[in-house]
Amino acid sequence: MNTNHQPTIMSRRDALRVLAVASGSAAFASPALALIFGSTANQDTLLKWYQLKPNHYAFVDLNTGGNALIHITDNAVVMIDTKYPHFAGAMKADAATVSKSDAPEITLINTHHHGDHTAGNAIIIPTAVASYAHKNAIPRIQSQLDTFKTTGSAASERIKGFSDSKALADLAKQAASKAESWTNEDITPKNPIDTQTTDLTIDGSNITLHHFGAGHTDNDLVVHFKDDNLIHTGDLVFNGLHPYFDPPAGVTALGWLLALNSTYNLCDESTTVVPGHGEPSDRTIIANQMNYITSIITNVQAEIKKDTPKEDILNMEWDFMKDLGFGSIRERAISAVYDELKG
Ligand SMILES: [Zn+2]
Repeated sequence: MNTNHQPTIMSRRDALRVLAVASGSAAFASPALALIFGSTANQDTLLKWYQLKPNHYAFVDLNTGGNALIHITDNAVVMIDTKYPHFAGAMKADAATVSKSDAPEITLINTHHHGDHTAGNAIIIPTAVASYAHKNAIPRIQSQLDTFKTTGSAASERIKGFSDSKALADLAKQAASKAESWTNEDITPKNPIDTQTTDLTIDGSNITLHHFGAGHTDNDLVVHFKDDNLIHTGDLVFNGLHPYFDPPAGVTALGWLLALNSTYNLCDESTTVVPGHGEPSDRTIIANQMNYITSIITNVQAEIKKDTPKEDILNMEWDFMKDLGFGSIRERAISAVYDELKG
């Protein structure tokens, strides 16, 4: 832990170098994680299981969905986020495969309410021993019940193109057949968090959940696996991508920056950082995200000072945005920051 260290904002070239090194050290997971990657489809492109540490498997989604993480202990599985109904069953089955126990107890942690992190909840929560989310996430998750049912009912179609694994198709079919009967009880985490810091010990593993105030949403949790020096940032970090700004969900660029600073201060140079979107890496990706948020605030503020009309600012693309993915959400980011700064 290096609580007094202030992040150094790296140049993009340095950041890419660090990213390349960090990605190179993340091994593809064992063949036992076969449900999603039992086939050749997209194995090298959009969806990847990484074994980041002996007991940590990250399900990295370079398509549009959020990154999930599975942590295994002797008798338990800790699952961070459930992605979509067409993946959640397979993640659970794959977790059981690598688990040291025949019947591991599952604990779920939702990093925030957005559907690409929670739409698979109904497949996990009913059999989980505990399920955590920030208290502000609860009504926001429940308001998506109908969307989750629709997404779940389409699970068989949505899995096509990702994999030709029969086991995966069977699980998607199972999800689809049940989706219409899902209730709020099925999708709602049972253990709401209303403190800034929550320490959990799960089968001997020390895990701290941090809520650093509103940032990406009003219910972000950062999950710190202290014994393994690994952090899942939720969507506070988009690695190599434009971040998603969602005003109705309580996004605040200024709050986001503070939350990133606090998250950075949990890390040292060896910390493994799993972002909400993009490739896992180290704390550099947190510093890069701080650079993005600082830069967008500075640039939008400068245009506001010049009385530049909002519609003109929305068309701008500054140097720090060059080469980032998710270009279609650039305007959203500028618009939200403009509105926040204008008050
Ligand atoms: Zn999100």
